[in-house]
Amino acid sequence: MRFKAIRDIQKHRHNSEERKSEVVFGKETFHRGVMEKMLPRNVWANLKEVIDGKGKLNPAHAQPIAEAMKEWAVKNGATHFCHWFLPQTGLAAEKQDAFIDWSGKGELIQKFSGKQLMRGEPDASSFPSGGLRSTSEARGYTAWDPTSFPFLWEMGGSKVLCIPSIYFSWTGKALDMKIPLMRSDAKLNQGALRLLHLLGMEADFVYCTLGCEQEYFLIDRSFFLLRPDLLLTGRTLCGAAPAKGQELEDHYFGTIKERVGAFMVDVERRAGELGIPLKTRHAEVAPAQFEFAPIFEQASLAVDHNILLMELMRQVATRHRLCCLLHEKPFARVNGSGKHCNWSLSTDTGINFLDPNQPQLLFLITLTAVIHAVHEHATLLRASVATSGNDHRLGGHEAPPAIISVYLGEALDRWLTNIEEDRAHQSKAGQSLDLGIPPIPEVLLDDTDRNRTSPFAFTGNKFEFRAVGSTQNCALPVTVLNVIVASSLNQMIDEIEKAVMKKKKLQDAALDVVRKFLKASKAVRFSGDGYSAGWRKEAKKRKLPAIEKSLHAFAEFLTPKSVKVFEGVLSKHELEARVEVMTERYCKILNIEARIFYEMFQTQILPAALSYQKNVAESIRYVGEAGLPVSTAQSSMIKRISQQISLSIDQINMMEKERQKASQMPLEKRAKAYCEQVFVKAEAARKTVDVLEEFIDDRLWPLPKYREMLHIL
Ligand code: ADP
Ligand code: MG
Repeated sequence: MRFKAIRDIQKHRHNSEERKSEVVFGKETFHRGVMEKMLPRNVWANLKEVIDGKGKLNPAHAQPIAEAMKEWAVKNGATHFCHWFLPQTGLAAEKQDAFIDWSGKGELIQKFSGKQLMRGEPDASSFPSGGLRSTSEARGYTAWDPTSFPFLWEMGGSKVLCIPSIYFSWTGKALDMKIPLMRSDAKLNQGALRLLHLLGMEADFVYCTLGCEQEYFLIDRSFFLLRPDLLLTGRTLCGAAPAKGQELEDHYFGTIKERVGAFMVDVERRAGELGIPLKTRHAEVAPAQFEFAPIFEQASLAVDHNILLMELMRQVATRHRLCCLLHEKPFARVNGSGKHCNWSLSTDTGINFLDPNQPQLLFLITLTAVIHAVHEHATLLRASVATSGNDHRLGGHEAPPAIISVYLGEALDRWLTNIEEDRAHQSKAGQSLDLGIPPIPEVLLDDTDRNRTSPFAFTGNKFEFRAVGSTQNCALPVTVLNVIVASSLNQMIDEIEKAVMKKKKLQDAALDVVRKFLKASKAVRFSGDGYSAGWRKEAKKRKLPAIEKSLHAFAEFLTPKSVKVFEGVLSKHELEARVEVMTERYCKILNIEARIFYEMFQTQILPAALSYQKNVAESIRYVGEAGLPVSTAQSSMIKRISQQISLSIDQINMMEKERQKASQMPLEKRAKAYCEQVFVKAEAARKTVDVLEEFIDDRLWPLPKYREMLHIL
């Protein structure tokens, strides 16, 4: 089957599906333009305020909005609608209903009411809630989120109207990823407005911006279907390293192959129609690895768009007989995939707080607050990217290490050090501004973004959080960023205001506070090589936390410091529920991985190894029967195979034994056992299996090999 798959690949056509038709951006969304055209004037005026975060929706307007939405959707080919929401599974969820109902006279009519638009009741006791909802009290509600545009999702030749929604329990507890994100944005908004106010600047509101660079692998679909591990877990659980991996560095930014190009064109076309502003496409470091990046947007919208983009990439890949692998580490020993979260703060009028061209104090205070927040809550940030998949990625092959540090670039770092040490007046005469702040170095823009080993880097006019994993919903890391920065910002403003009340000049007060906060967080600033052994030692000296295993990070959400910083966004109870969901999920994934690995070993790998052993034994017997001398090479070969086979059987059995033991334990112990026993045993068995792959007759090996999956496209 492996060889048939390879033969078939040559027959594929590599064309995009609808090369000629023109893309109309946002065509498949119920966007502002459509709303303005279709809604009564007063309804649109109210809705516009809601979308801009300036008002609440008048309940009486739900019905006319629903009617317009239905009319638009049906005209464009929709038959069903659903509330589209983001539960804690990392994916989107939906329950579809047709636009039909009985009329009073027993006839079937098209119907979609304001009530249906505003609220859904998915009765979904099977979504993870971490004990916030028991099955007997399964009520969970979805409610339309007007800040994200409804869109049409194409499926099986038909279309569904998807209504972006939030998801909460009947007691009002957040069950999804979006509610905390929106609450954290509001919290940051308050702090940021205070800062603007302090500096005598104006804005109606401030929101966080997000641009997520999505890395992914593409492999032929036939290969994917022949690998049960990819099918069930998204990553290969075994596989010998190919003779050529990424060492020639010829893939990064390399020319994109025709087939991949056709896939990209179709993704971009559909993404455009769905209002997702994709801008950048390129080949990544590992063979068969690529990246898409959109233009940044308000974070909650960017999160919806990223989740939708991932779904779209999977769908389009299938149509191209490809498989889009979004896992953090589909292949060992080559680059993993991340989702760099580019984050900043912006006013509704477009002022970017982290733009060095903004008033110096605005830039300086914001920058300091971010650095301080990352230092103060490094373990919480680490926890926000803690998943079993990311454990395979962090710390290896171009991915940042698990130690959270901030990279600023040399020029910016020096600038801050000068301010910290009050050396403003040492810069050249005439250059120092009246604020007592040295001028921002001009080289700053090209000096940043040189250090790929940093988990949190300043890149010109935003921060780039690089530790986020490629499958993750960025809502959680961004929520954490928002709450911790809001906290540091508010602390700084409190202190500045206090000093100003005591008749200190604003600029002097601000600089004093900046200095104090910079000094307190100095340890987190690091410009060197994040991979070096020296950095581990240095980080330890600086008392920076290094949480290697995700499992050990989950509890960071529950420290008193974290509970406090989450105030108004997630309660302690909600945080506990989330930690439970994460821990459960962690165990389940490791359990699935171990089970499928065991099955692959018993039913595919071992039979292949035994056949090979038999073939070699027979050829030796044949040589002996023919009266020829059996060479030492031949006899050592059979010995080696036999040893390797028994070793692998022992190791896989050990893994299975540990798995069975672990699966019976209560949650906390179970997670520990999966992490420390099952995972470790699986890795050991994998090594042995990979050696088997390297010497067993190629014709007998049942699983597509790394060299095939990574190099045949
Ligand atoms: P690189 O690969 O060099 O890190 P890319 O161009 O691939 O950079 O991605 C940069 C991302 O950062 C894009 O999604 C871009 O829209 C986003 N971005 C730029 N400015 C901001 C900002 N102010 N806030 C949030 N994201 C931003
Ligand atoms: Mg990029």
